[in-house]
Amino acid sequence: MRYTNYLLFSLLFILFNSCFEVKQYNPFEKYPVYEGNDLGLSYSKEKSTFKIYVPEADAVYMNFYEDGQTEESYLVDQMIKGESGIWETSIEGDLLGKFYTFQVFKERGWLKEVPDPYAKAVGVNGKRAMVVDLSQTNPEGWENDKRPPLAAPNDIIIYELHVRDMTIHDSGPFENRGKFLGLTEQGKTNAAGLTTGIDHIKELGVTHVHLLPSYDFLSLDETKPEANEYNWGYDPQNYNVPEGSYSTNPYDGNVRIKEFKKMVQTFHENGIRVILDVVYNHTGASFESNFYSILPGYYYRLNEDGSLSNASGCGNETASERPMMRKFMIESVKYWVEEYHLDGFRFDLMGIHDIETMNAISAAVQEIDPTIFIYGEGWTAGASPLAEEFRAVKKNASKLNNIAVFSDDMRDGIKGHVFTHDAKAFISGLDSLEESVKFGIVAATQHDQVDYSQVNYSDAPWAKEPAQCINYVSCHDNHTLYDRLLISCPDEPKSELIKMHKLANTIVLTSQGIPFLHAGVDFMRTKDKVENSFESPDSINQIDWDRKTRYQDVFEYYKKMVALRKAHPAFRIKTTEEVQQHLRFLPVDGTNLIAYQITGNANGDKWKNIVVVFNGNKEAREVNVPAGNYQIIIKDGELDEKGLGQETGGKLMISGRSALLLVE
Ligand code: CA
Repeated sequence: MRYTNYLLFSLLFILFNSCFEVKQYNPFEKYPVYEGNDLGLSYSKEKSTFKIYVPEADAVYMNFYEDGQTEESYLVDQMIKGESGIWETSIEGDLLGKFYTFQVFKERGWLKEVPDPYAKAVGVNGKRAMVVDLSQTNPEGWENDKRPPLAAPNDIIIYELHVRDMTIHDSGPFENRGKFLGLTEQGKTNAAGLTTGIDHIKELGVTHVHLLPSYDFLSLDETKPEANEYNWGYDPQNYNVPEGSYSTNPYDGNVRIKEFKKMVQTFHENGIRVILDVVYNHTGASFESNFYSILPGYYYRLNEDGSLSNASGCGNETASERPMMRKFMIESVKYWVEEYHLDGFRFDLMGIHDIETMNAISAAVQEIDPTIFIYGEGWTAGASPLAEEFRAVKKNASKLNNIAVFSDDMRDGIKGHVFTHDAKAFISGLDSLEESVKFGIVAATQHDQVDYSQVNYSDAPWAKEPAQCINYVSCHDNHTLYDRLLISCPDEPKSELIKMHKLANTIVLTSQGIPFLHAGVDFMRTKDKVENSFESPDSINQIDWDRKTRYQDVFEYYKKMVALRKAHPAFRIKTTEEVQQHLRFLPVDGTNLIAYQITGNANGDKWKNIVVVFNGNKEAREVNVPAGNYQIIIKDGELDEKGLGQETGGKLMISGRSALLLVE
């Protein structure tokens, strides 16, 4: 059937419907639920079967194409309505490499022609789905790919990066610049011979990389790589497909799948686990999205007047509480685990999702592998029709199973309020944030020595156990740590900024919970003070590997901090009870000063006692440390796990803007 027949069909339909009313399911609560797990394409050489959930449609058509972009359809097929809102069709013969779309006829009109939300491969710009045989998309040795070992979530150290940023700058000699494959290139050094790309990440020693959205997103024109467009990717288009602009060939749906897998495989070979940032909370397009074009309204929350609600601040918010949206999210996450071997997920604006859905996702991945890690932003970006008690927000974290949330309390306690760019905080000498930092040190758990009434954004502990708390000072959002210091401390020389910079992540990397580092923070990354760089050019966002040479001592310090944390389980205590028992704050005289002890070979540490002191004042301060025979591990911005000298405790001086770590 060709398009001319569409017109005929439409006319006949309108005539037919002028006599009869079509059955309507509205409201959405009355929609049937499909329990099967075979939505989308089921491929074999003999035939391809397609199933799609469209409970409210008068007809559903499929269009088949030879390519993903320009050719006219060579076949149009009418789907047959089955049970539970499912439409189905089977096409005999081998459709491998053919492209397809769906189009719904409803209420006397055609909706937009789109791939189904379940598409696993697409052509350029994600406009048409593609028939793939996933078994042919595996890189060599994929069957032997294994997750690197992980004993406990507390052992995780996260490094958050954008695929393109890591290999786009010419300070790194990459062949596949800005691509998934760029992150597989090993042995590439900068002009000074220092490691770059994946080798750099391995050298730093983090356990997990967190990739900014790398599923297919909307904003970049994949047909114009020469335009060097840039986007973070928080505008999802096809949830179950890798982004085309990060592949070497966005036209052939196989290529991006294979290259994404190759990247995961290479990280795994280097002992690094891979987390994907997932944005199920909204779609890049609203009325033109795949969801909306198949089943208008259903996948989204609506205001009382029927308009799209907007808790994402991006024009729409999805409705995870609706059974088929919940099912979509669970199946999508499982698919990324099983097909791409991913090791974790970071949920963007997780507070938009309901608790029940998040727990169902957590249970589903735990069943596959209990070491898969889930965390998210425990907030929304605007008002939502979903009542707060049901939201997967920070204050409800104790209702979330095996799901962690970001601690903005810790972040802003250390460096200052996120939206007041010149605000100072603990590291820059502003007092009154000590309890917020202490709150982060105990990973937002219950601790009798934290005064919760003084914590900046929380009035009670929200983490059940330490592994529910992600501690950080900077991420892709907002200013880099270095830029923030430039803005909030404009009169300070660079040497002072470096002291504060090191102190900030010394606090993060010695705290209980899970530390999170923004890529490049380990060599003073700058974005030229651009805060929201989501579509800024490469010149702002790129990782400049020559900075690693310039700030080599900062990098060496970060590297040693990471190694220290990995070598010492005392910083990775597993339970709230043990944190209470082993971690005790020491009395201090004055503001911007925090001291604590971790005693009793905590969590099996070979160190019996550890004393940690942070001085956020510009000037040196005196602290009183219990008497002992200490080795100095960190002092004056230097770190040596074998010791920088001896100390016997009692009254000690700690220099300005620095950490002191003593052990015995
Ligand atoms: Ca795309």
